[in-house]
Amino acid sequence: MKHIHHVIENLMAGRPEACHLAKALAKQARATHRRMARARAVGFEAYETTLTDLLLTELAHVDPRFWRVVRFKPHEERGNGADWEWWIQRSDLSWVRLWIQAKRLYHPGERYEELKRKVRRGSDGRIWQSRLLVEAARREGRNGSVLPVPLYAFYNCLQGKRAEPWPCKRLEPCQQQPLLGITIAPAQQIDELIVKGKNGYRDVLAESKPLSCLVHCPTVWSGHPQDSYASTLLMGMEWLHTNDVLPSAPSLPGRIEEALETDDEVVAEESDPRIALITGHAALPGARMDEVPPGLADLRERFDLRALEQQGWRETT
Ligand SMILES: [Zn+2]
Repeated sequence: MKHIHHVIENLMAGRPEACHLAKALAKQARATHRRMARARAVGFEAYETTLTDLLLTELAHVDPRFWRVVRFKPHEERGNGADWEWWIQRSDLSWVRLWIQAKRLYHPGERYEELKRKVRRGSDGRIWQSRLLVEAARREGRNGSVLPVPLYAFYNCLQGKRAEPWPCKRLEPCQQQPLLGITIAPAQQIDELIVKGKNGYRDVLAESKPLSCLVHCPTVWSGHPQDSYASTLLMGMEWLHTNDVLPSAPSLPGRIEEALETDDEVVAEESDPRIALITGHAALPGARMDEVPPGLADLRERFDLRALEQQGWRETT
């Protein structure tokens, strides 16, 4: 795994903040893959909602100076087809709004079974959830709010070497399935796949990018060394949308700023990046995504994935 970090560091030379983010996103992809693999190894499948909760918790902690993560409540998801909203700040200080629906890969069929889910829309009967997401985003944009960008995040767990083309040229030297633990795609493209009846791993992968690619792969940022890493991620999002400029709002909606300022439950320790929410100061250097608490590192050793593989746990490949 050190190898991946080394490759990313070389790719991001001279951009330490973006490098840190690329590694943080790659780490979340590997963590998601590991959670799914370990659940399966003991005979059950991790729920999509559980994986989402863990991912969002970590994303929200990366650094709240430049983004906000808002998890939708179930009744909100029924209305807009999205699991969460991600506000990300551009270098011009405006905010881009993303709406994301997550789906996990099922085994042994290697399909995103839940992609073909139909949901109720008012009195019009049932429609694909992907269509609901795309249409609800458009409607929201017409209602005077900034247009949310609808996306899919996919949680994947496959083992071993695969015949599929590797979706990231820059990480070709370290092709490892855990890096594909989280992939992301524009909802419009996924909706078109579903209309054609396609929900298989290969079909979806062809439309997707590994999450960390959005930071380490676009080449457009090379001329903007002063941008925040959040704006690097946004350039990646635009790259995913064939370089369309994503709409943005001049400021965050009051409900989001307010929730952060009045939430007494937020208890920030000295090294907690959330302290930036309260004080407006930069996150302190002690808060790094790379650190693994000693207890967790110990657990990871005891349940080493390689050891599981050697015990013949790779039967799904
Ligand atoms: Zn890439």
